[in-house]
Amino acid sequence: MPRTDIVKIVFPESDIPTAWYNILPDLPGEPLPPLHPGTGEPVGPADLAPLFPESLIMQEVSTERWIDIPGEVLDVFKSWRPSPMYRAHRLEKALGLTSGNQRIYYKWEGVSPGGSHKPNTAVPQAFFNKAAGTNKLTTETGAGQWGSSLAYACALFDLECEVFMVKVSYEQKPGRRTLMETWGATVHASPSDRTESGRKILADHPDSTGSLGIAISEAVEIAAQNDDTHYSLGSVLNHVCTHQTIIGLEAKKQMDAFEDTPDVVVGCVGGGSNYAGLSFPYAADVLAGDAKTRFLAVEPEACPTLTRGTYAYDFGDTAGMTPLLPMYTLGHDFVPAPVHAGGLRYHGDAPSLCGLVKAGLYEAKSYPQVPVFEAAVMFARSEGWLPGPEPAHALKGAIDEALAAREADEERVVLFNLCGHGHFDISAYEAFLAGKLEDLQLSEEDLAASLATLPPQPANA
Ligand SMILES: *Cc1c(COP(=O)(O)O)cnc(C)c1O
Repeated sequence: MPRTDIVKIVFPESDIPTAWYNILPDLPGEPLPPLHPGTGEPVGPADLAPLFPESLIMQEVSTERWIDIPGEVLDVFKSWRPSPMYRAHRLEKALGLTSGNQRIYYKWEGVSPGGSHKPNTAVPQAFFNKAAGTNKLTTETGAGQWGSSLAYACALFDLECEVFMVKVSYEQKPGRRTLMETWGATVHASPSDRTESGRKILADHPDSTGSLGIAISEAVEIAAQNDDTHYSLGSVLNHVCTHQTIIGLEAKKQMDAFEDTPDVVVGCVGGGSNYAGLSFPYAADVLAGDAKTRFLAVEPEACPTLTRGTYAYDFGDTAGMTPLLPMYTLGHDFVPAPVHAGGLRYHGDAPSLCGLVKAGLYEAKSYPQVPVFEAAVMFARSEGWLPGPEPAHALKGAIDEALAAREADEERVVLFNLCGHGHFDISAYEAFLAGKLEDLQLSEEDLAASLATLPPQPANA
């Protein structure tokens, strides 16, 4: 019987997991390698050396199930980890789930200095770079969630941090830019005149408002040209998903303390890292034949990578500079409608997560943003925390799972990842409360046009 007398589980810092779980050796089927964008040949560790330190490259391709977390990283994690887990008693009540047969739990990652799960990988990436002698990290950021988490991590390990921020966000969201600068980062509006790729865009389109793809090209260019500089990515790659498994490893122990077990694990997916982080330690049990947990990935209807995309090799960026990754994709030229969940507006997803969707182990679902914000406001008025627009998608998925179980008169335990707060997304709440939020759908024509730009596929893929 589950414990009904507790609201949250907070463990002492001595209970922070000391190793990350790497799902690669447990994934079904033969792994598909990333391919070189120029030659189409599999990418080896040497190809990645200009961008990442060897330690992170080894994690990226590792077939070891467990990777030790360095003591210096654990010392930083003590500032906010283990993060709390809650039983959503008040939300259940607001939903009329009174029988106790449908129970909702959430892991709360908004307690980190960056306000989301992203410092879980920013901190180890900064640490491993510092240990390898790196002086500076470059990266791109859209709304600024990743850039600010990396700026925080670089400040701790005395690294320079240079962020290329999509120009439209730079101008419209000065709050996160100031946050990055407060942590000591240098922030450029992208396209900028600091790089060849930026200058080229500016020459052709002086009024360009930028894109994530352009910003990636600028950050990669600086890292590739300077020996003391590396590049850092906040999602999609294997080592990023591995770092995030600290969420799920803690969650399992906390669910044990609640004396309950999730039937379905839910998360929002932008590039896949927070959901991989919560779900992979549970997927390990299913892959080993020890559990029957269901998995539900939730994305916006305006950027429906898993639900309407094609499984194919595609570039990670718009310019076609990154390796080709096997994943569900909407096409690397895809420009999603400006939905408020900025972190979910990416054309692809982590190859490991995509493999699990393709294998039928993970389900995927999409929602328009208005019902997502209805759920977010209901949550704020019951549980109190203000969800980021991204995890509000997971919340909506979790609520519908619980309501469907009540409808079917089934017992169901739902666990979702509340991966960040919405304190920098107040304008989205303002639009919703004023009734000005619109549902933005993707037409078949636009989807087909974007998928038509997929690169030629290798014969054996
Ligand atoms: C970046 C971000 C996301 C999307 O990235 P994933 O890699 O899919 O986790 C989702 N939520 C928040 C709060 C973010 O900052």
